[in-house]
Amino acid sequence: MSEQNQQANTVVIGAGPAGLTAAYELGKRDHKAVVLEADDVVGGISRTARVGDWRFDIGGHRFFTKVPHVQQVWEELIGDEFLVRPRLSRIFYRGRMFDYPLKPANAILGLGPVETVRIGLSYLKAQLLPSREERTFEQWVSNRFGRRLFEIFFKTYTEKVWGMPCSEISAEWAAQRIKDLDLKVAIKQALFGGLGSRGKVVTSLIEEFHYPRLGPGQMWERCADKLGARGSEVRLGTRVVRIEHDGRRVLAVHTRSKAGDEERHEGASFLSSMPLQQLFEVLDPAPPAEVLAAAARLRYRDFLTVALIVDEPELFPDNWIYIHEPDVQVGRIQNYKNWSPDMVPDPSRTALGLEYFVQEGDALWTTPDDELLALATREVEHLGLVPRGRVVDGTVLRMPKAYPVYDAVYQEALEVLRGWLAGLENLESVGRNGQHRYNNQDHSMMTGAHAAWNLGGGDFDVWGVNVEQEYHEEGQSSSVSGDRAVPSRVAPVGAKGDG
Ligand SMILES: Cc1cc2nc3c(=O)[nH]c(=O)nc-3n(C[C@H](O)[C@H](O)[C@H](O)COP(=O)(O)OP(=O)(O)OC[C@H]3O[C@@H](n4cnc5c(N)ncnc54)[C@H](O)[C@@H]3O)c2cc1C
Repeated sequence: MSEQNQQANTVVIGAGPAGLTAAYELGKRDHKAVVLEADDVVGGISRTARVGDWRFDIGGHRFFTKVPHVQQVWEELIGDEFLVRPRLSRIFYRGRMFDYPLKPANAILGLGPVETVRIGLSYLKAQLLPSREERTFEQWVSNRFGRRLFEIFFKTYTEKVWGMPCSEISAEWAAQRIKDLDLKVAIKQALFGGLGSRGKVVTSLIEEFHYPRLGPGQMWERCADKLGARGSEVRLGTRVVRIEHDGRRVLAVHTRSKAGDEERHEGASFLSSMPLQQLFEVLDPAPPAEVLAAAARLRYRDFLTVALIVDEPELFPDNWIYIHEPDVQVGRIQNYKNWSPDMVPDPSRTALGLEYFVQEGDALWTTPDDELLALATREVEHLGLVPRGRVVDGTVLRMPKAYPVYDAVYQEALEVLRGWLAGLENLESVGRNGQHRYNNQDHSMMTGAHAAWNLGGGDFDVWGVNVEQEYHEEGQSSSVSGDRAVPSRVAPVGAKGDG
């Protein structure tokens, strides 16, 4: 084990969108940075994973923003290979596809006459005998749409994503997310027409988004290359394991390579995009016990993709499908060649990504890869999305800490952590997990950009990005299938919280 000493103006922790954007903005001002990245690839959650020439996205990363500066940076980095792609994503339930965002009339008609009657009766029941209490997501949705519709289009997927029963998710989240569904209008349309032609409904679902030709990671690989050309450096396989400080300033960070080599990196300023919880774990000396306890209260949801290569040229036209079947564990299925044809090297085959929302260390997370491949194969065949015997290969991708969880205690914990961090004048925490905020790439990038501009003498609010939650990736979503907003857990009666 060797120890070396390195010096750069600014030390950036993490080569995801936030860290790389910070270094890129610094580079524009001729300010050199070293970016320390634990993994062997850049891009963080927004990487492109590769097996040979097959490329996979961790989730599907639409490049969509209302922040002009972000669009400009994307164009600067990859304008020549930035595709504009059509979007189609639907809900799969009982062998049929339903519009997403959910359109009640389409949903009711698609379920057939028997189910429509059941939905109608359960809706009437909810109108006549609503649950008096409306504390939970389950009560809120059932009161408005009836129990039956709740079970089909809300319960299964929501519980898969968040790993908690709808009876424990707060009603407030439902009220925020489900704005445009009016069942009375929908029933009237279903009975008396006015639905518009089916073709019209489908057309309205198709929007466009930007996507790099070789997946989201291509954006960040380009960014890393440009940094190199400007004299900054991205060091892969270099994990920050200790942050040395004197209570007022960070003096250096210590890294460990996969081979076990340790290095000490000094700098004038430090920007960290590592998860806030881990940042507090590696501060040396350690902060007071109550601060560490606050860090330990932050919770995450993790993400597992089983990518399958299927010997079929076309399976379905969607970029991704939400799976509402209760008898399979998969939550969403990506079809990578519909994001970009160049994600797939062999046009006679298709690559699917079966997404499972998990908790690090739980039964699925720890299942051996060959069993996960067998499970995913069984599930796509069972759903009827892939003919039997056509899966020819596959791989498993695990992404820890994919989602920061907003539970009953996170805000209080975050305040404690921010308060303590404010005492270290040359350290800024940026990015999605760096701020424990449910940011897409654009907002993650802007936290990095703000921090960089401040180093150049600016006065930007690094923690003020995306606080108003003025839009989410799913835009005007009228269904809960979107996973951009985060539900909070209702405190069980008599309990203070779950943390
Ligand atoms: C399923 C899913 C779908 C998504 N879809 C979209 C979408 O459609 N559009 C969109 O814009 N955004 C989407 N996002 C959000 C997007 O992935 C994030 O906003 C973005 O990647 C966050 O960037 P970041 O740099 O803050 O963090 P990250 O991407 O998490 O990067 C942080 C980096 O820090 C490194 N790191 C951590 N600890 C250390 C350490 N100790 N030492 C050194 N390095 C370390 C990590 O390895 C990682 O590379 C999605 C996210 C998920 C989970």
